[in-house]
Amino acid sequence: MIHTIGVIGGGQLGRMFALGAKPMGYDVIVLDPQERSPGGQVADDQIVAAYDDIAAIEELGRRSDVVTYEFENIAIDSVRHLEKLGYRVAPSSDVLRVTQNRLLEKRFVRDCAIPTTGFASINTEADLERAAEELGFPGVLKTSEGGYDGKGQWRVYDLSEARAVLAEAGAAPLIYERLVMFERELSVIATRDAKNEIVTYPVCENEHRDGILAMTIVPARIPDEIAARAQMMAAKLGDRLGIVGTYCVEFFLTAASELLVNEIAPRPHNSGHYTIDATRCSQYEQHLRAICALPLSPPHLFSNAIMMNVLGTGTGDRLHGTSELLADPSIVLHLYGKKHAVKGRKMGHFTMLLDGPVDDTSIARAKAAHAMLRWTK
Ligand code: AMP
Repeated sequence: MIHTIGVIGGGQLGRMFALGAKPMGYDVIVLDPQERSPGGQVADDQIVAAYDDIAAIEELGRRSDVVTYEFENIAIDSVRHLEKLGYRVAPSSDVLRVTQNRLLEKRFVRDCAIPTTGFASINTEADLERAAEELGFPGVLKTSEGGYDGKGQWRVYDLSEARAVLAEAGAAPLIYERLVMFERELSVIATRDAKNEIVTYPVCENEHRDGILAMTIVPARIPDEIAARAQMMAAKLGDRLGIVGTYCVEFFLTAASELLVNEIAPRPHNSGHYTIDATRCSQYEQHLRAICALPLSPPHLFSNAIMMNVLGTGTGDRLHGTSELLADPSIVLHLYGKKHAVKGRKMGHFTMLLDGPVDDTSIARAKAAHAMLRWTK
């Protein structure tokens, strides 16, 4: 019987997971270095410790019936340690190992016969010269591990720029990717359980700004055939990974209707926040169902939706405009309880539920609603 769930990471994903688990009757303990973290504020308890604090990780394992994690940049040794002690962890360390390293991940996708953007492993100048020859410019150099929200990645337009990035990155292994001139960015949220049941949510269309997700539109404005192909690819990747839990596959859609996998997140994802308000079973509840061996729920969409992130702007920590925003009854606001609205920090999001289709008018309405929000001192 599962009663207590441990979550490594107490950010917004850990918080929304805990908010999904509580009505299902579970206790949640989060582990996060920051006291009263967004997740810790709503969980039953928080262990305040670093993610690689083995004694604290062990305590989390001892006190939980199953342990999960809210982001992939955690020390793999922490997860392996729990597994060695016989504690249940989902997704497994094998899944984490592949998905936390961009190079292993891209090779894995390629081995599944699913297209990705052209890529090469970069450790030396000679690697760079070979990649430039084979793949050409422009491209993106990314740290193989540890990057997120556009951090740890640099666009380069010629070899001298690429060399400068390599020098700056020091010893960190890099991956070089050809820059894709995509038509749209898409993602598929899916959940797989230990019996290999897989559910896939409708395809999301995502708009990023400065490498950070700004807006998600559901369903994506793409032909059914492309949506079905994206969902099939996501299901195949989940199956081949053997993941247990909710995950997300991000794609680039090219003008030639090609789908190229950009990355896989082995956890609930920012582009799936809309599932809390627009579907019968959120990506968080679905994750819980998978890791607790409960039946998965058909991901039924109640209404079309637009999700917009509310980012800090560095102009203060007080958010204004929420009462104007909430005057629109189609909007549901989620704030994460973070104290400091540092520029680019994810402070919250809102979901606009639509009666009609996603079109230019509804997108303009969501953007106008977003423009009502501002941060001051
Ligand atoms: P990532 O951290 O890899 O998801 O990258 C963040 C964002 O940067 C993506 O969502 C894209 O908007 C952009 N990006 C990353 N890699 C590429 C690429 N190879 N070609 C074009 N855009 C990219």
